[in-house]
Amino acid sequence: MSKTWIEELRQVVGARHVLKDAASLLSYESDALTLFRCKPGAVVLPNTVEEVVAVMQILHQAKIPCAARGAGTGLSGGALVPEGGVILSMTRMNRILEVDEEARFARVEPGVVNLDLSNRVDRLGLRYAPDPASQTVSTLGGNVAENAGGPMCFLHGTTTNHLLAADVVLADGSLHSWSVEDDLDLRGFLCGSEGTLGVIVALTLKLIPKPSAVITMLAGFKDVPEACAAVAAIVAKGLRPVALEVMDQKAIQAVERSVYRAGLPLDAGAVLIAELEGDALYVEKEHVRLEEVLKQFSPIRLETAATPEQRVAIWKGRKGAGGAMGQLAPDSYVMDGVVPRSKLAEIMAFVEEVEVEVGLPVANLFHAGDGNIHPHFAYDARDPEQCTAVEEAGAKILRKCLELGGSLSGEHGIGLEKQHLMREQFGEGEIALMERLRRVFNPDDLLNPGKGLPMSRGCAEAFHRHRRGGHA
Ligand SMILES: Cc1cc2nc3c(=O)[nH]c(=O)nc-3n(C[C@H](O)[C@H](O)[C@H](O)COP(=O)(O)OP(=O)(O)OC[C@H]3O[C@@H](n4cnc5c(N)ncnc54)[C@H](O)[C@@H]3O)c2cc1C
Repeated sequence: MSKTWIEELRQVVGARHVLKDAASLLSYESDALTLFRCKPGAVVLPNTVEEVVAVMQILHQAKIPCAARGAGTGLSGGALVPEGGVILSMTRMNRILEVDEEARFARVEPGVVNLDLSNRVDRLGLRYAPDPASQTVSTLGGNVAENAGGPMCFLHGTTTNHLLAADVVLADGSLHSWSVEDDLDLRGFLCGSEGTLGVIVALTLKLIPKPSAVITMLAGFKDVPEACAAVAAIVAKGLRPVALEVMDQKAIQAVERSVYRAGLPLDAGAVLIAELEGDALYVEKEHVRLEEVLKQFSPIRLETAATPEQRVAIWKGRKGAGGAMGQLAPDSYVMDGVVPRSKLAEIMAFVEEVEVEVGLPVANLFHAGDGNIHPHFAYDARDPEQCTAVEEAGAKILRKCLELGGSLSGEHGIGLEKQHLMREQFGEGEIALMERLRRVFNPDDLLNPGKGLPMSRGCAEAFHRHRRGGHA
């Protein structure tokens, strides 16, 4: 009797690296956006490129849908498969393969955790710039698939600006290398494709020198519009901070009540974190200019981190804020939308209106420099009405982003969450072109089906049906 595809997978990666029991599968039924859940049929943990190639060949032959998964910190329902599908967990492929100090690049496997790369090259005076707030856990493969951003990306650009080459296994099991040096730059096409083109098995990433001087300023304002106005003025004055991050009062209070406590002003309606980096002379000059601009907005508090420890504490507060939201409610729906910087105050006022309408607390922390907002809805996923309410509220905010000339996603991707809104941002012709391009790499839609582009009603229901709370 011929082997089943599960038996074949076990032969390739070893029986203990194919998970089938209910308890193990439970951890893979959602990413960090727990509004969407779908239990996979199996999880496979390959350890080498050869194993990924063999796994993809088996799944292709058996016509089994599959999706790669890094740390599962995605916030748009990306690393999920329809029931019976297979998750390829890339976490065993977590080796840093090469660091070229002189040419300033690193070659890594996709399961390397973002911060581990910067920690590894720190003693060489180098770093990897994109710094998602999830950088202590999220993987570089997941970062490339989502084109991750982060506070420092205001100056340095998102992941796509730091990707030099990638090795990718397509749905049919064929292995390809795409590089910035190729005539047709498929590397750029891969970045942000949400795991729908191929499984990334190796990456070559740019490293940049650590700055010789850094200055971090914390400004407390009476409210969010004041903080937004200060951000617009900083950019209008031609200042080039590396980061411009805003947190509102609910976020400040959640942080200050948590282990991420950073000494943020509890009486402020919003704080702005602004950081400058470069050589000492440049940073000193810019610091004076930055202070001048901030003072024009009558901050309640204005201070500069006096020690490296204070700077670390401020960033720990900012980057831990997402986790601190756990105090507000059992679940958090973290949204991601973009508006032109000049429209930040307007969209934040709209978010406040929606908060009142929906009757659930919303905390805000956002990459203000990029116009990238992240309202955090605090809700209880055990209540189906709250699930529906936050989902509808999110869609309303995203539609407003589009109306203000923005877009559906700054960095979390489209995933399952926003695919139904894609036709509101893009025309039929653009969607059709994107679909045709995807089909070149993934013709049978077996690789991460239903993500990024609008899907058919039947396919959408295959996922929605399994949402906790059971409403479609
Ligand atoms: C508290 C918190 C803070 C966050 N802050 C930020 C932030 O500041 N900036 C930001 O951009 N995001 C942020 N995120 C979102 C998330 O961390 C990023 O999207 C991250 O890039 C996902 O990486 P991951 O390894 O967890 O990927 P996963 O969630 O496992 O997967 C994400 C997507 O990538 C695909 N994928 C994963 N690995 C591969 C691979 N090897 N080959 C092909 N496709 C693959 C998956 O199929 C899926 O579509 C945050 C999330 C949390 C929970």
